[in-house]
Amino acid sequence: MLNRNSDLDIKHNYSLEKLNTFGLDVASEFFYIVKSLKDLRNVLLENKRKKITVLGGGSNILFTKFLDGLCLKIDLKGIDIIEENKNNVVINVMAGENWHDFVQWSVNNGFGGIENLSLIPGLVGAAPIQNIGAYGVELKDVFISCNTVNIKDQTEKEFDEKSCLFGYRTSRFKTIDKNNYIITSIKIRLTKEKHKYNISYGPVKEEIGNRELNLESISNTVIKIRKSKLPDTKLLGNCGSFFKNPVINESKYIELKKKFPSISAFKVQKNQYKVSAAWLIEFLKYKGKSIGNVGVYKNQALVLVNLGGATGKEVLSLANKITSAVYSTFKINLQPEVEIL
Ligand SMILES: Cc1cc2nc3c(=O)[nH]c(=O)nc-3n(C[C@H](O)[C@H](O)[C@H](O)COP(=O)(O)OP(=O)(O)OC[C@H]3O[C@@H](n4cnc5c(N)ncnc54)[C@H](O)[C@@H]3O)c2cc1C
Repeated sequence: MLNRNSDLDIKHNYSLEKLNTFGLDVASEFFYIVKSLKDLRNVLLENKRKKITVLGGGSNILFTKFLDGLCLKIDLKGIDIIEENKNNVVINVMAGENWHDFVQWSVNNGFGGIENLSLIPGLVGAAPIQNIGAYGVELKDVFISCNTVNIKDQTEKEFDEKSCLFGYRTSRFKTIDKNNYIITSIKIRLTKEKHKYNISYGPVKEEIGNRELNLESISNTVIKIRKSKLPDTKLLGNCGSFFKNPVINESKYIELKKKFPSISAFKVQKNQYKVSAAWLIEFLKYKGKSIGNVGVYKNQALVLVNLGGATGKEVLSLANKITSAVYSTFKINLQPEVEIL
């Protein structure tokens, strides 16, 4: 159905089932695919009173109910090298580009820095939201800035790396500026020469063995490990890690280590330890467990899966059960990594 007040093709009561990797059958009151910056400004201007939800690849969102207001699916495309010298390239990537395809494009062009982030689902525009990371590398390591449009007044603003307030699976866009900006593009710096290969993560080091270290071998290794550990979202709906790994102080860590000697944790900085949330969940025997249409993935306790026909409420109920069980045994508050709507 066309919106009567404009020629923007805004859909009404639009199913998002194919647009979220949990595969949840929810609908959005209004839905629009953003293909240009001009469109984005227009649609925001004409729908000032509606609640706006931004959707990328839907790989980090749990829809628990009908989505009121206007859902904007970001489909801005383009990859441009905007600066280049002997050692580095600066690339501007539009928010609607697929993240993994962009990583492969970089690897194929001999540009280094994001090969460890191969096969992370979703779109480029969502990457800064939680400062995506895997296997010892985070987006912030290569990030220069992002361009944004303010949802309320449609003004454009560029945020540099420092002002994005990146942290472990977080940024200003998840905290002080949650729901205020739409990221339209990002600028990153990659290496052309003297790549700094990062194989600090045990399984990557083991898997790569004696093979030559290069961008392709690291990317392929990461892809292989991820495929063996994580369920294919096309076969089993999921959003990757549902919870963040909790960070606790040293005295809490010492107390837990005494009670649970096999607890898995490592020091992240002075007086701070990151605990494996997967270990906590596995210890409580949730790994592989299913309740109704939802379950905890058999190969990775951090991943909640839609076993078929699940609702978002069912996923949330299992997540809440796990959070309560972890709290009652370890007195640790698990925080979701996934955005719950
Ligand atoms: C199998 C699997 C494995 C995963 N592995 C990892 C991993 O290793 N590391 C990791 O960090 N993540 C991982 N994830 C999570 C997910 O892939 C990332 O968080 C990804 O960046 C989400 O991108 P998306 O486009 O799907 O975002 P969506 O799920 O569509 O959106 C996520 C959040 O960002 C907001 N958002 C999206 N686009 C924009 C935009 N352009 N402007 C403003 N806000 C926006 C949304 O409103 C929402 O709040 C995994 C997910 C899956 C399914």
